[in-house]
Amino acid sequence: MTSTSEIAEALRFRAGDKVADIDPEGTPGFRGSKSDGAAAQSDRSARLAELQEMLYANWKAAEDSRSVLLVLQGMDAAGKGGIVKHVVGAVNPMGVRYTAFGKPTPEELEHDFLWRIRRALPPPGHIGVFDRSHYEDVLIVRVHNLVPPEVWGPRYDEINAFERELVDGGTTLVKVAMFISLEEQKKQLLERLDDPTKYWKYNPGDVDERSKWPQYQEAYQAVLDRTSTDYAPWHVVPCNRRWYSRLAVTELLIRALESFDLSYPAADFDIAAERKRLLSS
Ligand code: AMP
Ligand code: MG
Repeated sequence: MTSTSEIAEALRFRAGDKVADIDPEGTPGFRGSKSDGAAAQSDRSARLAELQEMLYANWKAAEDSRSVLLVLQGMDAAGKGGIVKHVVGAVNPMGVRYTAFGKPTPEELEHDFLWRIRRALPPPGHIGVFDRSHYEDVLIVRVHNLVPPEVWGPRYDEINAFERELVDGGTTLVKVAMFISLEEQKKQLLERLDDPTKYWKYNPGDVDERSKWPQYQEAYQAVLDRTSTDYAPWHVVPCNRRWYSRLAVTELLIRALESFDLSYPAADFDIAAERKRLLSS
């Protein structure tokens, strides 16, 4: 099978990297074809499922309080839903806490922008999945001037402080910035119009957002420049080829979980004695 070991490292955002230079068609760190990717995906999904089970098991049996938080950010049709369905869908839902962040409700707007985020954090032993996130508050909010610059400007530092707090509390962040091209987005949105089973994914407002593409590129650049820290780095994932982006996010999750050095928890009871008791029961 084609090696996937270089993908995670190849995707890490490095100071000075430019959004304008991202090739959304690219497959960084992977030299194989789509069918090589599919073969690797099934193998690596199984590995991810195993690691997630160990994370959960260690919390259940040994009070290991660590967790992972996957943050998915990307323009409409970048494939966030596909990552949730295919990558996160490969693990046991028992250990997943999924939250999609849309336009804030009136109640959410009464609070600080991190209020709804804190309420959605993964419990110990779980993988949290943010389908959009606190970064919307410096993306759509910045592009549309939903609040003045005096309010969104300080949010980069506030986000860094918040993420530092999460990491110190035992949560490993896997931040994924998903990039498709403007052309590919058009193709994906057209598919939604051509297929009655996809109308539910279509939002007329997505077409208006396309005219703001350069402003979004600029806002994404600021996010990467200002919030990619050594404790919570960003990964830039090209998403025109969905088979690649799914494999890439799988690799990023695997790497985060492997850093926990997990194994199945040992029995905290006398196995032989329990066997005897059970057999005679
Ligand atoms: P979707 O993910 O396609 O269901 O769309 C959710 C919409 O909610 C997107 O247009 C987001 O940009 C928008 N959204 C998410 N968070 C915020 C926020 N904090 N303020 C304003 N709009 C937001
Ligand atoms: Mg949408």
